[in-house]
Amino acid sequence: MVDTLREGSLLYLDGVTVSFDGFKALNSLSLLVKRDELQAIIGPNGAGKTTMMDIITGKTRPDTGEVFFEGSIDLTRKDETEIANLGIGRKFQKPTVFESHTVWDNIELALKKPRGVFSSWLYTRDTADTDRISEILDTVRLSHRKDEYAANLSHGQKQWLEIGMLLAQDPKLLLVDEPVAGMTDSETEETSKLLKSISRHHSVVVVEHDMSFVRDLDCRVTCLAEGSVLAQGSLEHVSADPLVIERYLGR
Ligand code: ADP
Repeated sequence: MVDTLREGSLLYLDGVTVSFDGFKALNSLSLLVKRDELQAIIGPNGAGKTTMMDIITGKTRPDTGEVFFEGSIDLTRKDETEIANLGIGRKFQKPTVFESHTVWDNIELALKKPRGVFSSWLYTRDTADTDRISEILDTVRLSHRKDEYAANLSHGQKQWLEIGMLLAQDPKLLLVDEPVAGMTDSETEETSKLLKSISRHHSVVVVEHDMSFVRDLDCRVTCLAEGSVLAQGSLEHVSADPLVIERYLGR
C-alpha cells in the first residue's frame, strides 16, 4: 500500500519524526504531494509546518521515517544542495531579490545559476534564454516592470519576482511559506491566480494562515497539529473538522 502511494506521488513523507531536546516537532508525519498539485498546509503556530519544510529541503534530518521524491529517490540522507538540484525550490516568507538589479536581470541571474548556489555573472546570453525570461516575467505578471530596479517594486511584486527566480530553476516542486503576508488585497488575489497557474506544470505546497487566501487557492488542504496530520481534504471539509476547530480555527 505504502509503495503504491509512493510510486504515484511526487513527494512522500513516510512516518517522519523529528525531536528537539526530546520534544517531537514532527510526530510520525506522513504526507503525500501529487504531481502538479497545489496543496495548502495550515495549522497553529508550533504545529511543525516549518520543520516539515526543513525536512523536505534537507535542512533538518529526520530521527526516524523517510522522504521520497518522484517515487524512488530517497531524500532522507541527501544534503540541501543535492535536494535543490533534484528540483525542489523553497521560498521563505520574506522576499529575497537583488534590489540593485533590474527585474529582468534578477530572472536572468536565477536562470544561469547552478541550483542552490548563486555564482557569477560570467555567461553568454542566447535567444532561448531571452524567450524563457520573457515567459517567466509574463507568468509572474512583471513584464511591464522588466527594466525597473527590484528595489522599486512593491512588496507583492518582490514576492512574485522571487517566485519567478525559482521558476527559472525549473523546479518540480515549489515550497512557498506565507506568500501573502503583508500584501494588499489585490496582490493577494493575484497571488492565488499565480500559484494556481504555476501548479498546472509544477507541484506547489503553500504554508498559509490566511484562510480567505486558502479558500481562493481552491486546493487540497492539510491541517497539521503537534507534528501530525489532523485533517485533510477540501477547505470546507477540513474547516468543519471538530479537532481542527478546537485546536486551530476556533482559537
Ligand atoms: P510552525 O512552523 O508550524 O509554527 P515549527 O516547525 O516552527 O512550527 O515548530 C514546531 C515545534 O518545534 C515548535 O514547538 C518549535 O518551538 C519547535 N522547534 C522548531 N525548531 C526547533 C529547534 N531548532 N530547536 C528547538 N525547538 C524547535
